Amino acid sequence: MAERSKNSTIAQVVSCLDGYDPDALRVDKAREAIRACLVPVGQTERVAIRESLGRVLAQDIVPQINVPGHDNSAMDGWAVRSSDLISSREISLKEIGKALAGKPFQTNVGPGECVRVMTGAVMPQGTDTVVIQESCRSEGNRVMVPPGQKTGQNVRAAGEDLKAGIAVLKAGRPVRAAELGLIASLGIGELSVKRRLRVAFFSTGDELASIGTALKQGEVYDSNRYTLHGMLSRLGVEIIDMGVVRDDPKLLEAAFRKAAASADAIVTTGGVSVGEADFVKQLMAQLGEVLFWKIAMRPGRPMAFGRIGSGENAAFLFGLPGNPVAVMVTFYQFVRDALLFLGGRTDSFEIPLLTAKSSQAIRKVPGRTEYQRGILFREGDEWQVRTTGQQGSGVLRSMSEANCFIVLEHERGKVEAGELVSVQLMDALA
Ligand code: AMP
Ligand code: MG
Repeated sequence: MAERSKNSTIAQVVSCLDGYDPDALRVDKAREAIRACLVPVGQTERVAIRESLGRVLAQDIVPQINVPGHDNSAMDGWAVRSSDLISSREISLKEIGKALAGKPFQTNVGPGECVRVMTGAVMPQGTDTVVIQESCRSEGNRVMVPPGQKTGQNVRAAGEDLKAGIAVLKAGRPVRAAELGLIASLGIGELSVKRRLRVAFFSTGDELASIGTALKQGEVYDSNRYTLHGMLSRLGVEIIDMGVVRDDPKLLEAAFRKAAASADAIVTTGGVSVGEADFVKQLMAQLGEVLFWKIAMRPGRPMAFGRIGSGENAAFLFGLPGNPVAVMVTFYQFVRDALLFLGGRTDSFEIPLLTAKSSQAIRKVPGRTEYQRGILFREGDEWQVRTTGQQGSGVLRSMSEANCFIVLEHERGKVEAGELVSVQLMDALA
């Protein structure tokens, strides 16, 4: 149950936005309107370090120690005193011992002396420079160091990775593999993260059949709940799959009430189209404060956004269209960001737009943002993009074949072959 924004209703918030037009809403305006209404969850919990993967930090991570803890050698070679080095000629030093990673050399190194060191070995007292083994000659306990060495070379300074007392990760950052390692390098075994967002979802439509039942005439299997299962799971939220809900006011009301009572956000598919002869829109409007938008985009024109329930038991609602491709596009373009924000993320999580050359002409009219399904491919040294072909919003295969969206901006007209277009990668390093 997300906290309600204390003072204003959703209608009040969006009416203050410049250029807000629910019947021809630009994609950027819809994003802005959603963001202005959301209130992130506040609760936190303590988890063991491994469990923090994919979660959002609820605390700053402030090192109590330096990493590395000591100056140490970055190479295999000899640790020397820079004051012994002579820039114009080779010098000869006496090797007085050995230092390994985890096995420091304990005595002080005096003038004319050096110590054999391996990568990671603590710099022996008195030394400040490492000469790599490949550039030296050694005979017995004598080591010949050529000229041209630089003071401090091949030494990793204490604290060069992380400095005690200086916050390295801020609350609101997600924990990825790199952060897990970084937190581990500080010896921290338990940390505070935001509690996982709870998202309830269901499909609406009388034509929907569930897997395991035979299709009757005119029925389709419910696929939206599966794409949503996939997209929500990958976002790391707790999912509450409420199945298919028939177009029956009693069943719909019960589903909405249950979802609002148990979740922070509700995602539904279907039933929000213009002229839709069903009860979905009616109930959404009745059970909370819901706006019905016609978004200037393709696919995905109709969408409902609002809040269902009241007080403690309120959840943000995303009523997505029913068409399978429209579901995925509106999820990625609106719901993903909204859920990350609700979950407490404060870093920048916008998916970057890259540029690629279109290998083909693409039809497009100004006045709406299009998300065509694209295949980014390499042609020699150049990355080019083509569409997956048929772009109907019921052609889910186009999402499966695609590795990117070709984002054709609101004002843009048709694309000629060879022109640059914006692309948004669907999968990158996670
Ligand atoms: P609607 O937005 O309810 O008018 O639905 C638009 C189209 O999407 C219709 O052809 C529906 O049959 C189809 N559709 C709606 N919900 C689903 C679903 N859960 N799985 C697959 N197709 C769906
Ligand atoms: Mg329908």
